[in-house]
Amino acid sequence: MPTELLFREDAYLKSADARVLAVSERGIELDRTVFYPLGGGQAGDSGALMRANGERVIVSDTRKGESADRVLHLLAPGSPALEIGESLTLEIDWERRYRLMRLHTALHLMSCVVTAPVTGGNIVPDKARLDFDIDLSQLNAEHIERETNALIASAVATETAWITDAELDAQPELVKTMSVQPPRGAGRVRLLKIPGIDLQPCGGTHVANIAEIGAIRVLKIRSEGKHNKRVEIALAAR
Ligand SMILES: [Zn+2]
Repeated sequence: MPTELLFREDAYLKSADARVLAVSERGIELDRTVFYPLGGGQAGDSGALMRANGERVIVSDTRKGESADRVLHLLAPGSPALEIGESLTLEIDWERRYRLMRLHTALHLMSCVVTAPVTGGNIVPDKARLDFDIDLSQLNAEHIERETNALIASAVATETAWITDAELDAQPELVKTMSVQPPRGAGRVRLLKIPGIDLQPCGGTHVANIAEIGAIRVLKIRSEGKHNKRVEIALAAR
């Protein structure tokens, strides 16, 4: 049974009420969720499920289930057994997720500063990286930091839109990442639009206005192989 992905329509939802659909050793499935499952390089959410009796069950991680619209909430070891049909109040670790949203959106901007094919990416709460198919000598930390921060300062509001698989196939230039292809098969693909800056398929969670990122700093640049020149960033202290 599919899970309604509430974070897709509103990345700022911190909590929601839901019902348990399935319980297995792999995790808990719910009828709706605010927990983002690991995907597109973005770490899965953690948080808690509140039972009607007040018991607080810790969600240590979130992963995709057997299909794109199924989500597995991984419980911490020693958690109580939940019952199918039981009502819960979901609560994500918002501070952690908001950092992921800011870093994730910053990577979109950085992919416009470094104009080379993206061969990989990863976002965890304290840092994020993109790998580019580019000559290492063309990557300058100071330049990337300055230009990305200049884009952040333009304070543009982000937008999401949906296009059909066929429309995406007709515009292959929209897909910047060679490693993370947009999920297909559902008939439509979600686009993140940063007007005047970036437009690409992405199912992750983003800030509403790029000014929320604050600023970034480049932690390091190094080679991870012939086609993988890695730029790692963190949020700069404000
Ligand atoms: Zn994205």
